[in-house]
Amino acid sequence: MSYDDSNIFAKILKGDIPCKKVHEDDHVLAFHDINPQAPVHILVIPKGAYKDMDDFTKNASADEIAALFRVLGDIARAQGLDETGYRVISNCGANGGQEVPHLHLHLLGGRKLGRMLAA
Ligand code: 5GP
Repeated sequence: MSYDDSNIFAKILKGDIPCKKVHEDDHVLAFHDINPQAPVHILVIPKGAYKDMDDFTKNASADEIAALFRVLGDIARAQGLDETGYRVISNCGANGGQEVPHLHLHLLGGRKLGRMLAA
């Protein structure tokens, strides 16, 4: 399945719908999740049209991949999460439970997050 540019994060990237922005550069946009699951819940996304982690790791450039992970760490530190710890999740495809088909990293912290998987 190819990238569907009608997904909600594509619309955020185009500026068609708003977001609470945390960071933006040439390769990456980060913004607060609309339905936070923890005191800090930030979504970090590449600006390129990659539907999931599989697509990204197969097709993105080394610069795009480096930028996404570098920024993730920068944001975690800016939020003070390097002191207390945090979790990074990227749901991929049907078994991963991915709902929005544009790659995103969930950065979660600000409380003890419990077990990694609910079941
Ligand atoms: P997924 O299940 O695909 O890994 O996660 C999608 C995430 O996107 C969910 O945590 C959901 O709350 C978030 N989300 C869905 N629609 C919007 C939106 O319009 N704005 C923002 N900021 N987050 C959204």
